[in-house]
Amino acid sequence: MFSKIIAQEKINKVADLIDKADKAVIVTHVSPDGDAIGSSLGLYHYLQDSGMEATVIVPNEFPYFLKWMKGAKDVLIHEKYPDFAAQLIADADMIFCLDFNVLSRIKAVGDLVKESKAKKVLIDHHPDPADFCDVTISHPEISSTSELIFRLICRMGDFEQMSKDSAESIYTGMMTDTGAFTYNSNSPEIYYIIGQLLLKGIDKDYIYSKVYHSYTADRYRMMGHTLSERMKIYENYGAALIWLNKDDQIKYHSQKGDTEGFANLPLSISGITFSVFLRQDTEKDMIKISLRSQGTFPCNTFAAQCFNGGGHLNASGGEFYGSLAEAIELFENTLDEYAELLITNKNNLDKR
Ligand code: 5GP
Ligand code: MN
Repeated sequence: MFSKIIAQEKINKVADLIDKADKAVIVTHVSPDGDAIGSSLGLYHYLQDSGMEATVIVPNEFPYFLKWMKGAKDVLIHEKYPDFAAQLIADADMIFCLDFNVLSRIKAVGDLVKESKAKKVLIDHHPDPADFCDVTISHPEISSTSELIFRLICRMGDFEQMSKDSAESIYTGMMTDTGAFTYNSNSPEIYYIIGQLLLKGIDKDYIYSKVYHSYTADRYRMMGHTLSERMKIYENYGAALIWLNKDDQIKYHSQKGDTEGFANLPLSISGITFSVFLRQDTEKDMIKISLRSQGTFPCNTFAAQCFNGGGHLNASGGEFYGSLAEAIELFENTLDEYAELLITNKNNLDKR
């Protein structure tokens, strides 16, 4: 067994709401990642199997390496079908908000959720959840929302009922939010849960291969270009910056998901403990920022201060409205402000 992380009272409330509801909508954050889609589909299969009419709605398209998942083709993309999505949200008697902490993270879907009369349940692992749901299950100490979905289903007494499809989705989210269990994954209970998922018949090697061995050659060419032509190292700070402009991405036929994992790359360099990736958006006039750190350096504080963002301590993101050159300048100036924290963090890690 695992410890009872989610309060019993919240488990009871969610079970009661599910009992009373017929139509559920599950929403997750913009540019959905493996945990967003994994947790949503994990819950989706469970609700469907319980006899509920459930739909997953995402603000925009998600990466091709998640499309193999069972139920992925039924995920409704709000950007493509705004009226249908609005109708489903208006008709729902229950809404699950997964893997995000504030309504702005679901873009235009946020207003629809806010206006809906449905009972709302937040299940998430980002710090500082906003108060917009009837039940808020927020556990930043847990490495993925998918793990929380597993815990919820089990605590409602339904492990036996959990299908292989649900288990596969949950495993995918747990795997992707921990870089295939290479960070944020020291809790022994993660491995107990994996054991339980394997008992459901999932093939973890197949899942790994579906997610991480599905890339195009162009992605790797673009990665090579980024590391050779678009990387700057700030050795004293143990920091690195990489960036891609629009033309770079056009040249390598970049598709959604092709830059997944880029932000982590500089952390593989000895002595680098803070890495930032700036990507000029190819559609909107903005720069998307991804920040990663090792140790105690707070990426989320840095992201909030200069890039209107947030996220976790070691992995966060943000947006910048301006040119790439301006974003780089802002980054470098802010880096100087964080000099002491960066150097202390680097020294602590060097000593280990
Ligand atoms: P990624 O770099 O993979 O896009 O995101 C890493 C983490 O930062 C995720 O946990 C994600 O939820 C969070 N994040 C990414 N972009 C934003 C953003 O624009 N605003 C906020 N608040 N969080 C973000
Ligand atoms: Mn997550």
